[in-house]
Amino acid sequence: MSDNRFVCIHGHFYQPPRENPWTGSVEPEASAWPRHDWNERVTEECYKPFTAARIHGEGSRISELVNLFSRFSFNVGPTLMAWLERSAPSVYMRILAADEESRQRFGGKGAAIAQAYNHMILPLANERDRRTQVRWGRRDFEHRFGRSPEGMWLPETAVDTASLEAMAAEGIRFTILAPYQAAEIRPPDGEHLAPPGDGGADPGIPYVQHLPSGRSIVVFYYDGPLSQAVAFDRLLDDGPEFARRLSEVACSGHGESRLMNIATDGESYGHHHRHGEMALAWAMRHLEQSDGARPTVYGAYLDRRPPMGETRIADDTAWSCAHGVERWRSACGCSIGAGDPAGQSWRSPLRNGLDELRDSLATVFEREGGELLLDPWEARDSWIDCVLDAAPERIAGWLADRAVGDLDGDRGRRARTLLEMQRNAMLMFTSCGWFFDDIDGIESRQILKYAGRALDLARLAGCGEQADAAEQEFVSGMAEARGGGMSGDRIYVEERDGCRSDLQTAAAHVALGAAADGGRGRPLVPGAAFEATIDSSRAGRGGAEAVEGTIDIEVRPGLERARYEFAGGRATDGRVFAGIQPGRAPGEQTIPGTAVEWILDAVERQGESAERLLSGRFGTMIEAGPWMRADALRELPRRSVNAGTAAREGELEAMRADEGLLEQGAPAGFPGDGPPMSNPALDGPLSWRLIRWTVAMRRLTELLSEDDPDPAGIRDGAVDVRAWTLGPSAPDLAAGHPSRKTARLQPMLGGAILTRGLVERLETDVRVLEPGAGNERRLLNRILASLNAAGVLGLHPDTWETQTLWWSYSQSIRDRDGLIALRERVGRKLGFE
Ligand SMILES: [Zn+2]
Repeated sequence: MSDNRFVCIHGHFYQPPRENPWTGSVEPEASAWPRHDWNERVTEECYKPFTAARIHGEGSRISELVNLFSRFSFNVGPTLMAWLERSAPSVYMRILAADEESRQRFGGKGAAIAQAYNHMILPLANERDRRTQVRWGRRDFEHRFGRSPEGMWLPETAVDTASLEAMAAEGIRFTILAPYQAAEIRPPDGEHLAPPGDGGADPGIPYVQHLPSGRSIVVFYYDGPLSQAVAFDRLLDDGPEFARRLSEVACSGHGESRLMNIATDGESYGHHHRHGEMALAWAMRHLEQSDGARPTVYGAYLDRRPPMGETRIADDTAWSCAHGVERWRSACGCSIGAGDPAGQSWRSPLRNGLDELRDSLATVFEREGGELLLDPWEARDSWIDCVLDAAPERIAGWLADRAVGDLDGDRGRRARTLLEMQRNAMLMFTSCGWFFDDIDGIESRQILKYAGRALDLARLAGCGEQADAAEQEFVSGMAEARGGGMSGDRIYVEERDGCRSDLQTAAAHVALGAAADGGRGRPLVPGAAFEATIDSSRAGRGGAEAVEGTIDIEVRPGLERARYEFAGGRATDGRVFAGIQPGRAPGEQTIPGTAVEWILDAVERQGESAERLLSGRFGTMIEAGPWMRADALRELPRRSVNAGTAAREGELEAMRADEGLLEQGAPAGFPGDGPPMSNPALDGPLSWRLIRWTVAMRRLTELLSEDDPDPAGIRDGAVDVRAWTLGPSAPDLAAGHPSRKTARLQPMLGGAILTRGLVERLETDVRVLEPGAGNERRLLNRILASLNAAGVLGLHPDTWETQTLWWSYSQSIRDRDGLIALRERVGRKLGFE
């Protein structure tokens, strides 16, 4: 293997923050269907496969799984990391583990680098925001990866000298830019800085940039044509061709050590190019095994070869705008669509309006914050520590270190509110808001939400008058921001009003959730920003249930809190209703402890509506409706049905007894077991066979979710379900029986339920599989039984996670024991070589 030829591939993984700033949760995005939102969809298509890319061998069986994050240079945007941690924890953990693994692979240097916090275009930011963005990016990285970052990715690679200064001041050693962002270079053997040739800077070597402060920072210019081919051409369709091109470029030129490096959006692999991660895995594997160029990461390369060349970057340039950084403030024509500058005139008023709003909020922050915090801007720079770990006691300690006087109670609440206002005032500059062709798109709408939230937080901190004035000015400026769809002012108002979720609305969600499940489940909050506790009592009659009590609700991190009294119920038909009112101090509650009884009475007496009763005490009755946040509205009927079913557990038991009778009472000539498909008794009544199918379905699904089900039982259960499933060949259908529709729906419905059950069973079993453990054989047998059951039922469960977990298990087997043949059977069944 060559000692002086290296390949470094960098992926910039990023999604704009998508949370509703009032609720703290991502709401459903219709355009991401069939997924809940775009974060989920791109995770499925790109981030997840990237953590365990499949390399296929003979007969398209899997020969190896590769966590690509451990093999190539990457940064993941901090706001995306926060979402992954909460919503895709296994992907998140694999990314962290990959960095750890890469440090062993690359001589102590990790593959991960940091990113300026929320993808703000730093050359367009003011000095203060620039500094905070770099500090937050560094702290976020340290918190997650447990080490200091060496490199930092600049959003859109947008750079100017001040941004390099900000990074160097925070101890950042290098960044990565496009080759044409070099104004001047001096090659290692050159004497003067001079403009580079047509192709831009030579990407084969690192350069140092000396800064006015006396500090310096290293710049890697990536290979333009090859990066372009990865991002936009079809290079990722073909792993061998990809490897050949990488190697060819790395090994071109003569003499000293060279680094072939390319940088693209990480989403190129898998999201923009389906299965692109497989081509990359194949190419990396090929490079590792051939004697050509050797894969590395920037930090490791820099240790080996300190920069000999020097550069001066071109100020105010970026990788995705041919006009400098105009794409994020004017109608420059850059776009992903048609790119008509005439339609982009909204960009400039949006930039100006947000700049003015930022300055107004800074005035509020300095004046109000100055009364509470020793140094408000220093406090903002380190507020990221509380964003990363918002435990109340931690925040209290953090505040105590920075407080003017005592920050308990309302003064502390105001300080936290002002700092959160500042966080939102930075999020409103997320670059994606300007990137596209129209202001009426989800990315621009998102940054307008942050503007609205920042203003609401200013109000909450007691600065209503200033906030109202700043908002009025902002809205009138946004009227000038016109694209093809709605204008900025109307979008702003629509988003603000649509996203707002105050304490009372949140408490109404919680009350309905408690009415649905008798207060047993987790409080049904409208988003992660809300924390609620319920203190309630309940009573039930038949399938109906009533609940009453108090709700304490808070907006994190301690921004607002309130107590409500509530009562509600679930009728036998599953309908859910509740009433709430502001609560009094404990002991002074206005609801007598009898609400549950009169609610149950009302439910029972169909004529007398619960509405009248609740209205009498609470003003109005609350029912589910579009006023709720979409996810909570979806969750409510699920809770109601589950709780209603649980309340009827007794009736179900009776049904189970009936099932036994049914089996005994088979029509004459119909044996109690054995596959009836091959039995002449198929002529038995259809309704009876449907019941038998339902019984078999329930038995199998229950078995699959048991703690330690018998493998043989799973197989038998699957045979039983198949036996009673009506098929297109059933005589009823041949005879044009009216239940044709039933015959189609039945396997579909059963298939969906059983597929989910099998996937969960497989993942549960393979997760605890451990070489040498006492239950290893049983688990292996059960995994095999579940896979066979899928075969029997003609189902194709998604085994991605099972394969991935299996791979780590199979890598840890060392000893020879009696399980080799069994393991091999399971492995092959899972698609491995
Ligand atoms: Zn442009």
